[in-house]
Amino acid sequence: MNDVCETTGGFNDRNLPYHVPETTPELLDDDQKEALYERIAKLLKEKDAVLVAHYYVDADLQILAERTGGYVSDSLDMARFGNESDASTLVVAGVRFMGETAKILNPEKTILMPDLDANCSLDLGCEAEAFGKFCDEHPDRTVVVYANTSAAVKARADWMVTSGSAVEVINHLQEKGEKILWAPDKYLGDYVQQQTNADMLIWDGSCIVHESFKGSELEAMKKARPESKVLVHPESPPSVIALADFVGSTTGLINYAKESDAKEFIVATDRGIFHKMKQAAPGKVFLEAPTAGHSATCQSCSHCPWMAMNSLTKLAECLEEGTNEVFVDDEIREKAVNSISRLLEFSKARGHVIYGANDA
Ligand code: SF4
Repeated sequence: MNDVCETTGGFNDRNLPYHVPETTPELLDDDQKEALYERIAKLLKEKDAVLVAHYYVDADLQILAERTGGYVSDSLDMARFGNESDASTLVVAGVRFMGETAKILNPEKTILMPDLDANCSLDLGCEAEAFGKFCDEHPDRTVVVYANTSAAVKARADWMVTSGSAVEVINHLQEKGEKILWAPDKYLGDYVQQQTNADMLIWDGSCIVHESFKGSELEAMKKARPESKVLVHPESPPSVIALADFVGSTTGLINYAKESDAKEFIVATDRGIFHKMKQAAPGKVFLEAPTAGHSATCQSCSHCPWMAMNSLTKLAECLEEGTNEVFVDDEIREKAVNSISRLLEFSKARGHVIYGANDA
């Protein structure tokens, strides 16, 4: 297992066009944690609010969400839960596009986030104006974007997809003879292209966390632990995907771990997912796929620096003060909801339960 440090950082050495925060987790003793749990639970009641958390945030937040009648899942499923909830306020512990998706699908509700600066490298790497120009240059292509994009990018798209639905949607579009413009994740785009053979023009974006997994070190780890199954999220590089026993969305990976006969898993996705995996498959062993080794640098890390910005203290403060509200411009929201609704209608027509089997 690779060495991990708690602080996320060093990503900025990669000459990225955006700044990556260096986040150190909140250090709380058990008493402090319990006091915060109590304070937040009380605030949630007082404010008619419910907490929805992503699989990648700190386990403390996931525990609190479930303890208080909230929910832990992937981004679209978080928005679905919010939509079905009677609460007038949703507190989204995750990253910015998740708050925006919740607002797009629940415009009448107040959406709060512990930290509005918690973003995503896929979102940041696909700026709306540049993306709009790219679309304008290829008007003959159907625009399909991944859930990990801003509301403005979704507003420009014909379809939004999740990692759990991308292959099926692209197959459907290809059968209709459509050529695709795909954004923003190039690795997921390559994976979908290989699965479907569709004509896809792919935006050059990536997730800095999944991109850190190393194929050669994973191969060595797999050889050393032949009983382990390798679970890989498709935002990972092709050399890592090639070694997978199972490739899937966050919910898909959790379900596989639960249903598989295997007792040990090497997991190539954000390590925040281990909390849910252990809960779903108690007694099984989960190991982080290598982000360090000969081909790595010290900035390798399997924890999202933006997800790590969510903390119990910030959550209590945003509830107490009603700050960090997410707004989406009405015009953008009305367009963005179309690309999301297409996916929901497509899945419904095919008898799928789209929620709970997807990702972001
Ligand atoms: S793990 Fe990657 S894709 Fe997920 S929020 Fe962080 S940067 Fe974005």
